[in-house]
Amino acid sequence: MYNAFEGDIMSESNCSGNCATCSSNCKDRKQEDFFEPTGEFNIIKHVVAVVSGKGGVGKSAVTAMLAVLLSRKGYKVGILDADITGPSIPKAFGITAPAMQNEMGIIPAQTENGIKIISVNMMLKEHDQPVVWRGPVIAGLVKQFWQQVVWGELDYLLIDCPPGTGDVPLTVFQTIRLDGAVVVTTPQDLVSLIVKKALNMAKLMNINVLGVVENMSYVVCPDCGKKFSVFGESGDKYSELGIKLLGSMPIDPNLAAMIDCGAVERISGDFLNAAVSEIEKL
Ligand code: ADP
Repeated sequence: MYNAFEGDIMSESNCSGNCATCSSNCKDRKQEDFFEPTGEFNIIKHVVAVVSGKGGVGKSAVTAMLAVLLSRKGYKVGILDADITGPSIPKAFGITAPAMQNEMGIIPAQTENGIKIISVNMMLKEHDQPVVWRGPVIAGLVKQFWQQVVWGELDYLLIDCPPGTGDVPLTVFQTIRLDGAVVVTTPQDLVSLIVKKALNMAKLMNINVLGVVENMSYVVCPDCGKKFSVFGESGDKYSELGIKLLGSMPIDPNLAAMIDCGAVERISGDFLNAAVSEIEKL
């Protein structure tokens, strides 16, 4: 008897030679070979992925706010919305116009403050139309956003990654050379080991994890201003996992209202300053 789940899924002895379809982290892994260059009109200085172990934790909200904070500091910023089946970036910035194209490629939308955005929502006739596509098609679109969008010169391109550890995040990690990743979690993710899975995937893919932003960490009483950690204190659990905590965000109905009505560029707050500083160090 042996434990069928022990060790690498693909052992070196039955190696197919195709690292793109294998998750093994064996010594012969040819990770670097798959990175694709961006389009010829683009100069993108740094690429940062925003990832999460599951959906609904506020990954898109954090991506949008990081972009806003970086742009307020004078950087040229773009957001590639790779969360193809759950795109929320255009809505957070109040963008409703469809993406246009010219002879150079696909032209991203620009927000009030000049943040460049591309999302599948800008290509759908109806914004509530579901994207019912298979993994390879979705992954192909993410590649297209990387290669065929005319980003021009950017200091930072943030990628709002699809949640989880499936096909599409894998394609993002293998196609685009990332300078770093910010992991977005909620306190429950910590309990259910979802953070650990996301971190292990990043480790497997040799991604430089800058740290964690814990969203929905607490609520502030509107009457007395006292903080309540609804799901318990996270304490030192992130350092036990060997990862930096870059910020904690409260559950805040105003935040949700601003994001949901397209006014993310008007949000203030210092929850993400440490995350921004970490990105600036790249
Ligand atoms: P994800 O990208 O992880 O799926 P979203 O960023 O789309 O999650 O957030 C899901 C919903 O939760 C959105 O309606 C968003 O406005 C809301 N939300 C996110 N963070 C907060 C928060 N800290 N307080 C209140 N609402 C939030």
